[in-house]
Amino acid sequence: MPEFIPVIKKHEIQRQILRIAETITTDYQGRELVLIGVLKGAFLFLADLARELKLEKVKIDFLQASSYGADTVSSENIVMKKDIDVDIRGKDVLVVEDIVDTGLTLAYLINHLKRYGPRSIKVCAMIDKSERRKAAIKVDYACTTVENGFLVGYGLDYAEDYRNLPEIYHMKL
Ligand code: 5GP
Repeated sequence: MPEFIPVIKKHEIQRQILRIAETITTDYQGRELVLIGVLKGAFLFLADLARELKLEKVKIDFLQASSYGADTVSSENIVMKKDIDVDIRGKDVLVVEDIVDTGLTLAYLINHLKRYGPRSIKVCAMIDKSERRKAAIKVDYACTTVENGFLVGYGLDYAEDYRNLPEIYHMKL
């Protein structure tokens, strides 16, 4: 049986989302923002963040790259599974990720999105796991930082399970 150690409580997630939402609201005031959620892990985070942005015009879209599957080690072979539908040419884009670990997924996605000619691209992540970073990625807005460990809950899965847990746990197999 895996062991689940609570890492980030529900109220702390909410508090951190309010904090970054306030900064994002200030930074994008008077501009039209496109939030691009990275499926599937960012779905709850994006839903909670989007509700707290006090901006007049926010568009939302999703894309999906290859994920961990049943493994707990980041893949370096990234495949695009679902692209965006919204036209982002000349728009301000904020990529919304669950966890940035090696940064390879995000580096791939940012390169992909740049080809559509957005005005700007920034990155917002629920968790910045910087210890294993391989790609030169800047996380512009992060709720929290963790050193290492495999996390589940609040959108994060292990073999597609545990995404519905309301808080974030360190899973020990
Ligand atoms: P990266 O390409 O930055 O190494 O990996 C990013 C992706 O790997 C994340 O979007 C997430 O789907 C997955 N990932 C990285 N660390 C964890 C983790 O601790 N738990 C889970 N469930 N997924 C993770």
